[in-house]
Amino acid sequence: MLLKGATQRLLIEVLLPVTNYFYEICPLMTATITTGTLPVMESFYTLQGEGMHQGKAAYFIRLGGCDVGCVWCDVKDSWDAARHPQISIETIVEKALQETNRQPCIAVVTGGEPLMHDLKALTAALKAAGFETNIETSGSSPLSGSWDWVCLSPKKFKAPLPEVLPFANELKVVVFNKTDFEWAEKYAALVKPGCKLYLQPEWDKAAIVTPLLVDYIKLHPQWQLSLQVHKYINVP
Ligand code: SF4
Repeated sequence: MLLKGATQRLLIEVLLPVTNYFYEICPLMTATITTGTLPVMESFYTLQGEGMHQGKAAYFIRLGGCDVGCVWCDVKDSWDAARHPQISIETIVEKALQETNRQPCIAVVTGGEPLMHDLKALTAALKAAGFETNIETSGSSPLSGSWDWVCLSPKKFKAPLPEVLPFANELKVVVFNKTDFEWAEKYAALVKPGCKLYLQPEWDKAAIVTPLLVDYIKLHPQWQLSLQVHKYINVP
């Protein structure tokens, strides 16, 4: 059930600053645990193709495991975490440093649904190595980790948890058909003020949906268009 009125204000004005203190201002709380393993489907150095950080050098870490079940998912191989090797956080971060020529950039943790895992240790290790920590999540599992940027991409197949919504820096709604505009506005009303708002055509429907997005954004200029630019320039 979605939060409304006073309950949502309480979460944003009282609980969010307290939680941010533990996530961001009190690094000793998160920076000390940097061990453990995570199921990694793939990791690679490329350009971020979507949203606010589009065009920036970014190191992607795609974790296995997803229980959302989007019918149009283009990474269904990620769903079963057991199919992917458990890799130590130390190895994940060392590989990231090697592949970025030891010039830490944005580290984008994605999936799958990355929040199916406790990400405190990974984000602490990435930050200690100098990376900015970005996450791309549906918000359908509890938030863990210390994040410089949270891209929330809510999915109808398993809705975001209300307590994740205030942490979104960017709301990115994948539009598959016309009913997704209503879904997008529902969540735009629930994220914090200043959250960037993006509409992105679902890739296989882009030819039909993109003109609808152009018209919609011209009528509702608080939204911006997000394109999967990496797919146009043939990078991962
Ligand atoms: S949340 Fe992402 S990985 Fe999971 S089913 Fe949806 S599109 Fe695929």
